[in-house]
Amino acid sequence: MSSEPAVRVEDKLYYNRYLVDVGNPHVKVRAHTTPSPQLLSLLKVCPARCYELNDGGQVEVAVDGCIECGTCRVIAEPTGDIQWSHPRGGYGVLFKFG
Ligand code: SF4
Repeated sequence: MSSEPAVRVEDKLYYNRYLVDVGNPHVKVRAHTTPSPQLLSLLKVCPARCYELNDGGQVEVAVDGCIECGTCRVIAEPTGDIQWSHPRGGYGVLFKFG
């Protein structure tokens, strides 16, 4: 058993900063009534936990905190479930390594 302290993703994400581009989210979820399997998978795979279910059972995204890893893009953009683009210049994640 290792004596190294456990590293939690949440602790590392804490160092990042995010400049919100109000009104211009760089990830959008296609309107739907019942989420596709791809959309549902985003609830588990997004490391920043940007996706969640609303009270109506639809998947929503809040891009605040998105680290632009592209995981959701690979999974759900080809199926048309989301639209993904890079944030406009000056907006989005600012990585701090500490
Ligand atoms: S790009 Fe990565 S961090 Fe951003 S919403 Fe998609 S899965 Fe989450």
